[in-house]
Amino acid sequence: MTEMLTNWAGNVRFSARQARRPASVAELQRLVAASPRVRAIGTGHSFSPIADTPGALISVAGLPKIIEIDASRPGVTVSAGLTYGELAAELHKQGYALRNLASLPQISVAGACATATHGSGNLIGNLATAVNRIEMVTAQGDLLTLSRPDSAEEFGGAVVALGSLGIITSLGLDLVPAFDLRQYVYDDVPLDQAIASLDEIFAAAYSVSLFTDWRRPVIRQVWLKQLAGPRGDDRTAVRGRSDAGSGWHGGTPADGQRHPVPGLPPAATTAQLGARGPWHERLPHFRPGFTPSAGTELQSEYLLPRERSREALEALARIGDVVAAVLQICEIRTVAADELWLSPSYRRDTIGLHFTWVADARAVMEVLTLVERQLAPLRPRPHWGKLFAAGPDVLDRCYDRLPDFRRLMYRYDPSGKFRNDFIDSCLGTGPGR
Ligand SMILES: Cc1cc2nc3c(=O)[nH]c(=O)nc-3n(C[C@H](O)[C@H](O)[C@H](O)COP(=O)(O)OP(=O)(O)OC[C@H]3O[C@@H](n4cnc5c(N)ncnc54)[C@H](O)[C@@H]3O)c2cc1C
Repeated sequence: MTEMLTNWAGNVRFSARQARRPASVAELQRLVAASPRVRAIGTGHSFSPIADTPGALISVAGLPKIIEIDASRPGVTVSAGLTYGELAAELHKQGYALRNLASLPQISVAGACATATHGSGNLIGNLATAVNRIEMVTAQGDLLTLSRPDSAEEFGGAVVALGSLGIITSLGLDLVPAFDLRQYVYDDVPLDQAIASLDEIFAAAYSVSLFTDWRRPVIRQVWLKQLAGPRGDDRTAVRGRSDAGSGWHGGTPADGQRHPVPGLPPAATTAQLGARGPWHERLPHFRPGFTPSAGTELQSEYLLPRERSREALEALARIGDVVAAVLQICEIRTVAADELWLSPSYRRDTIGLHFTWVADARAVMEVLTLVERQLAPLRPRPHWGKLFAAGPDVLDRCYDRLPDFRRLMYRYDPSGKFRNDFIDSCLGTGPGR
């Protein structure tokens, strides 16, 4: 076993017998074919034990690096182990962008897409919605390609697959022309005003995040990532700034750079105060080269139908003091609906309620069980890469296509080579349970 004994947060100790880093796709194929149990690992940023295996933990980060742009689509083929940080800088250099990014650039493309990792934006889907093609090594060691138009129905099940159909070697992603953003932060929007104007607030910019600690009835910070107008024509930015001027929904413009977690140094966060910058230096909250988020923490997230946002926030406010006791910060985001079976935004425009907890697993599990009970009538879908308590019955009720995915998984991997305890605890055992 190599250096990666735990996940990023240190709350999961991998039970894998060996860690492998093949240098070619052919070596990966031989390895998968010969191993009774395997699982891919990305950069290990998931808080759930989703990447664990009792067999061989395989990183694809050693495969030859690919970033091949096809200007005619436009699209890009990328090697699965690349991080978004590496990819985004290169895309930008060549005049292209991805529509959305997560809060941190350090995660791998394959690992992030496998769990439907997302940023925020009413009109933008999660990161996996950019995927138009995947190439993977299946349980038998074969190389299989699935693409959006050709594999139609099955493709919806295969992109957000939790690492359970095969080991992805490369992905095709949709691109858009590079764009610039300006990031503004507003402090202390009263919670009742935020709830009353939630649609307006989330529509105020390309990407919007709200941060609260549930200690006071206030949204501590609203982060607006606004599209900047063409260079030399900053009317969009000016209009944005005056719309969102002093007194905006009862909040005030931040007078300096902010970090979302109270007490942490703002040097780790991407430039705010309206400074124009490229998409990949504004969409993530955290800069490469710095610890993202708090560093010592656990995380959970529940994704709910956007039209139930008000009920969700009111339900949380009722248990705010219990939540606050183990919370560092709560982030509220939106994600556009998609067609990916295991995506928490499958066929529903979504509001995401994210919790950065203190690093006390026992205390956190107690509180998140309460959060799940409180939100249950709204059919919350937990983020697969974060901590949750829900078992297969609850997940079946929330994830409409879970039964279809289970059948797909058993068809691709009848012997359970890629399965682990986490997958069994979420999906149950057997194709029909
Ligand atoms: C500080 C921090 C901030 C975060 N912010 C966000 C955020 O803004 N939005 C959000 O949605 N999530 C966020 N997350 C969660 C994170 O994005 C997800 O857990 C994501 O899956 C991590 O990617 P990874 O490369 O580390 O994947 P891993 O955790 O290594 O693996 C995740 C899953 O992907 C599978 N996988 C990895 N590589 C492959 C492959 N080549 N082929 C097949 N399957 C593969 C694994 O088997 C596993 O099932 C955050 C996490 C941290 C630690």
